[in-house]
Amino acid sequence: MMNMLADFHVHSTYCDGKSPLEETIETAIKKGFDSIGFSGHGTTEYDMRYCMKDMPSYIAEVNFLKEKYKDRIQIYLGVEEDSYAPVDRNAFDYIIGSSHYVIRNGIYYPVDSGMERFNKCLEAFDGNHLEFAESYYSSFCNYIAVRKPDIIGHFDLITKYEETDTDLFFRDEGYWKIADKYVAEALKSGCFFEVNTGAIARELRTTPYPHERLLRIIRDGGRIVLSSDCHYAPNLAFKFDETKAFLKDIGFRTAYALYEGKFKEYSI
Ligand SMILES: [Zn+2]
Ligand SMILES: [Zn+2]
Repeated sequence: MMNMLADFHVHSTYCDGKSPLEETIETAIKKGFDSIGFSGHGTTEYDMRYCMKDMPSYIAEVNFLKEKYKDRIQIYLGVEEDSYAPVDRNAFDYIIGSSHYVIRNGIYYPVDSGMERFNKCLEAFDGNHLEFAESYYSSFCNYIAVRKPDIIGHFDLITKYEETDTDLFFRDEGYWKIADKYVAEALKSGCFFEVNTGAIARELRTTPYPHERLLRIIRDGGRIVLSSDCHYAPNLAFKFDETKAFLKDIGFRTAYALYEGKFKEYSI
């Protein structure tokens, strides 16, 4: 297979996405997709702002649409599992495992919910960004080793605001020591890493997660999946052509996509 157009990190109105499932499928067909996977945010009891409140209806509707559209596009039922809220994996074709919080003294602090909340994360670690990073990555890697999600979601999410508001991580070699160590650890899991363009669509970043430096580590033995972390149908496969060129410069030659029930390798 020479090339494929597919996206497996896709939200809908069942969680914090703007577009209903069916509208998103229609958009994917218009864009010429080979396959698409939905990955609603698994229910997180400790933070109900953005996650799915009704997973059974989501599952039922995706399964219904899978059948309805089977002659036009392959549809997969996934979930974005937060690292602190395991879902019943039997219900899903695949799982994206993502970490959206740090926990300090029993309190869940979201790392990606705007600068006000991001600053609360830092405060929870007395302003020590390296302790914050260490806590985030160590618990994420522990989750990855235990749960082995199919796909590791936005590995370095704590750097979301690094190009706009924060100036903590990228210029600090102490941060890179931590991130390098944990990305190498996550690599041992054999899980796919997603290359996620969501923050580019939100105009927060100019390059995808994970950072290029981490992608260079992942390149040696790691396998990748392109994703847009789509919250609005027109942004499906956002900047995938540019991202493929960026990945090729780093040395990647292939990526993976769910196709005919399996993760298949294709040339980028
Ligand atoms: Zn996420
Ligand atoms: Zn997401």
